[in-house]
Amino acid sequence: MQADQDNQGRATLNTAIIAGTVAVLLMIVGTAWFGLYQTRQLKALADDQEFYRDLVECRAALVSIESHLADPELSATENSELQSRLVLERARFAENGRRVSIRKGGQISAWLSGKGAFSSNISRASLGLILIELDALIESTARSISIGGESIEVSLHYYLVFIALLMSMIVLAGGHLLVSNYRHSLLPMNMLARRLTQLNRDLPESVHDTAEAATTILCDPSSPSPEIRYITESVAGLCRDIEEKNKKLDELYIRDEKTSLYNYRHFKEHLIIDVERSRRFGDSISLAMIDIDYFKRYNDTYGHIEGDRVLARIAAIIREECRVTDIPSRFGGEEFAILFPKTGREKSIEIAERLRQIISAEPFDHEHGMPGGQLTVSIGLATWPDDAADWYSLINNADHALYQAKESGRNRVIAFAIDRMQEEPA
Ligand code: GH3
Ligand code: MG
Ligand code: MG
Repeated sequence: MQADQDNQGRATLNTAIIAGTVAVLLMIVGTAWFGLYQTRQLKALADDQEFYRDLVECRAALVSIESHLADPELSATENSELQSRLVLERARFAENGRRVSIRKGGQISAWLSGKGAFSSNISRASLGLILIELDALIESTARSISIGGESIEVSLHYYLVFIALLMSMIVLAGGHLLVSNYRHSLLPMNMLARRLTQLNRDLPESVHDTAEAATTILCDPSSPSPEIRYITESVAGLCRDIEEKNKKLDELYIRDEKTSLYNYRHFKEHLIIDVERSRRFGDSISLAMIDIDYFKRYNDTYGHIEGDRVLARIAAIIREECRVTDIPSRFGGEEFAILFPKTGREKSIEIAERLRQIISAEPFDHEHGMPGGQLTVSIGLATWPDDAADWYSLINNADHALYQAKESGRNRVIAFAIDRMQEEPA
């Protein structure tokens, strides 16, 4: 389908180029031919005009001689002079005149060759005959001049129409190329450039949009050229790649590498936001601080690699026991924190107690070597707004409850109580 469109696009382009080239060639050849034709026509016209002038001059001279010959008192000397003028006139006309167009066997032809009645003394009557023929010749030459002029004019009109047609063809071919180039190249390029500018401005939000836009350009029914498609495909691929990597980066940014729970940064951000939200909507939030009991001993005895495995396993249990709305995180070292949004003290105690029991029942490697033969955790709880006024004291008080749990023998859950705190020595 796409290949068909490509071939169609290329065929259109080739047609426009061929039509334009043919039009230009026709224009060159046509103009050269017209130039030669017009030169020949103009030369013929100039010849006719010159011949016409000669005829008119010759006629004027002959009319003058004829009028003198008509004089009844013409002396022999004057007649001889007039005959000499006639000879002179004949010589001038014979030299300049265009003999080809003079009818053979006619009076003028005989006069020019000095035959018959024109061999010696030319009578007034013979001169009259020449004049009649001259008039006819003048008239036909004038007609020929007029026809020649008209034909030059008509051929010029034809030439102008021919050139106008060719120019229209070139303009159409050029226009078609321009429109096709605009639709198939410039427009998609412009859209892509705008998307890329936006991508540059608000990365990474627009990465997805840019990939979508690039795909839209590809699916455009006006079908961009293969080159533009190649570019848009590359940009779309690049954007998808960036989007994928961005997602991974986002995950890395909020996850703890060792346990895959949320990291402290993400936990704190959530805690601050949730406390503010709860302050606004009057909800409770509970926080559990969890610390592994005697973990230093476990590490010192079985090594940090084994210790890490325990950390990962406890993290997995915590994740499994949490609800989707909870924020289970690694607070630091072997301490975990779980944020329970919209959860009061009683409910949080229930969840924490279940968690403690599951962990203590879990068969960890080497746990028989631990105090009581079990690997356990201690959990301290605090609830907002009952136990704390802000997010900071919520952590502190949950931590304080955890301390109480450790103090009172470990492997237990203790919720913060203000009175217990007051009992403690400073
Ligand atoms: P307690 O019952 O009072 O908590 O005793 P504890 O030995 O667990 O004492 P504490 O909580 O102070 O010990 C922290 C120990 O946790 C020290 C360190 O060896 C271990 N730890 C902290 N972070 C890591 C870690 O990333 N991996 C491993 N394997 N051990 C860690
Ligand atoms: Mg600790
Ligand atoms: Mg500990």
